[in-house]
Amino acid sequence: MSADLHIHTTASDGTDGPEEVVCRAKILGLKAIAVTDHDTVDGVEPALAAGRLSDIEVVTGVELGAQYLGKELHLLGYSIDTDNHILKDKLSFLIGERKSRIFKMVQKVQNLGIPVSCEEVLAVSRSGSVGRPHLATVLIKAGVVNNITEAFNKYIGFGCPAYVPRYKLHPVEAINIINKAGGVSVLAHPGQNNAHELLDMLMNAGLAGLEVYHPAHSREQEYFYFSLAREHGLIITGGSDYHGHGHKTGNHLGSVTVPYGSVKEIVKKKWYNNGRKT
Ligand code: AMP
Ligand code: FE
Ligand code: FE
Ligand code: ZN
Repeated sequence: MSADLHIHTTASDGTDGPEEVVCRAKILGLKAIAVTDHDTVDGVEPALAAGRLSDIEVVTGVELGAQYLGKELHLLGYSIDTDNHILKDKLSFLIGERKSRIFKMVQKVQNLGIPVSCEEVLAVSRSGSVGRPHLATVLIKAGVVNNITEAFNKYIGFGCPAYVPRYKLHPVEAINIINKAGGVSVLAHPGQNNAHELLDMLMNAGLAGLEVYHPAHSREQEYFYFSLAREHGLIITGGSDYHGHGHKTGNHLGSVTVPYGSVKEIVKKKWYNNGRKT
């Protein structure tokens, strides 16, 4: 009765399609999964359809990147209404920003004398939510690096010659978007960048949960965030941050899970929030 609540698909920078993710979740015996692609909900509907056929509960989700005073943090939106206009408008804006940013990065790669094109990167991405992993794949195809890690280390990682920063929301805006779309907002992998230092501001904006369990967290961090969540009455979530089975160094689907009770907490919170609005 466990759930993996942090999963990427081909709708953003994952390499398994939503249906494949559901199929793998079924084989693993998971009860529920959440599809949490970067800046898009395009993978949600196909995952829901596959989930209905195979009796896997799919929680609608999204992962939004935000920045505050130089600190990058990610917010997960669970149980969102994917047809909500505020959400849809913001996601199309963010996807437009992603495209123009990757085009600037392609230009920088070309300036280094490497023959890559925007069309190639978009063809790899296939989705609207194009990101650096897609450009990394094109760099491998061009023969200038052997793997994605090398692409990040040599060309596209922070501070590297072809790096261009991505547009990021204010964290309060990210929470507002999720909450207005009827969702439940959760601070993703707070151990990265000590994002929990902004907890007061985030909770005032309506943050409802903390991703206590994540592959990047040590046991000590799990304990720390578990206690923090308990202290503040935040929902405890977790997931593998799976990006597809093709990744040599990536996390396996279901490698981090939480009890199904987390999904129940999310649903309870959603109805509590939405009842309060009416
Ligand atoms: P972007 O959103 O375009 O800036 O790309 C960020 C994504 O790249 C993350 O969500 C990860 O999936 C991936 N990523 C970030 N750093 C690395 C790295 N060092 N090696 C491999 N993948 C990475
Ligand atoms: Fe990613
Ligand atoms: Fe993240
Ligand atoms: Zn993620």
